[in-house]
Amino acid sequence: MDRKQIRGRFAPSPSGRLHLGNMLSSLLAWLDVRSLGGTMVFRLEDLDPERSYMDYAALMAEDLEWLGLDWDEGWRPEGGLEYTQGARTEQYEQVFQRLMDEGRVYPCWCSRAQRLAASAPHPGEVRDTGCGCRTMTDGEKNALTRKGRKPAYKVHVDDCTIGFPDGHCGPQQFQLRSGRDDFIIRRSDGVFAYQLAVSWDDGDMGITRVVRARDLLDSTPKQIWLLRELGFTPPEYCHAPLLVAPDGRKMSKRDGDLNMETLRQNHTPEQLCGKLAYLAGLLPEPVPVRPAELVPEFSWDKVRQGDIPLPEGLF
Ligand code: GLU
Repeated sequence: MDRKQIRGRFAPSPSGRLHLGNMLSSLLAWLDVRSLGGTMVFRLEDLDPERSYMDYAALMAEDLEWLGLDWDEGWRPEGGLEYTQGARTEQYEQVFQRLMDEGRVYPCWCSRAQRLAASAPHPGEVRDTGCGCRTMTDGEKNALTRKGRKPAYKVHVDDCTIGFPDGHCGPQQFQLRSGRDDFIIRRSDGVFAYQLAVSWDDGDMGITRVVRARDLLDSTPKQIWLLRELGFTPPEYCHAPLLVAPDGRKMSKRDGDLNMETLRQNHTPEQLCGKLAYLAGLLPEPVPVRPAELVPEFSWDKVRQGDIPLPEGLF
């Protein structure tokens, strides 16, 4: 690939202050693009109006800059609105219509609980083969509409195998099954779903490198499928290790003591960057360092495999 064409992105959702895990993924995303001489884009994923707060968005930008991470293009508190998902709904509407016109979309009346049960069965249970909404008769649909129920909308996938070389986790192969793996692209309240917005945005913004935490690995085959369906060449993906609390739990924005508000009170940018680089496996010791100093030696081969438990007392 032409190195000049390399485009990576920060894609935070402004639903809370960035935490340590977000900072690790952001540092790796930045090192990946900078070491390849590419362009970094900041896209604000403020898709969900109920969970997006512009105060957090501004703090996210400030926190990334505080650590020493910059971007060449995209949203900033003072502009770049076209890089916010909240301002791109018309485009998602067009994509939705296009998929509708292709006969790929169907309404789904399942409750959230039903959907979760279908996608995450208990061990030993046979996995659901789909929710049944796709084959509903018009009469059944009309009856639900008369009751005032609003459907979500799912896209109907083809049976296919999606393989891709993950830049960190190695070769990946997923089977998509029509019915079972159909996924929501618009919620019942009309808000477009993450999978639709992120796939369209990565394609439309010419993103070629997606670096994000490994908890999104399962979404990747769906996004690759949708990107291809929309006529794009999917980006290359690197799924970064997850930081887990010392007890093995996934870190979340609820871990208040490890969000950037507290971390910035207790660290200089170099100290925090050094600890992140050490956790990732990029430094043998947690010594202070600037992100730019890590660029020349950066390689995914050095990044630790598997979840990274947070050592007691490091923060
Ligand atoms: N906006 C998502 C988040 O903050 C990230 C989406 C992505 O990287 O694909 O979790």
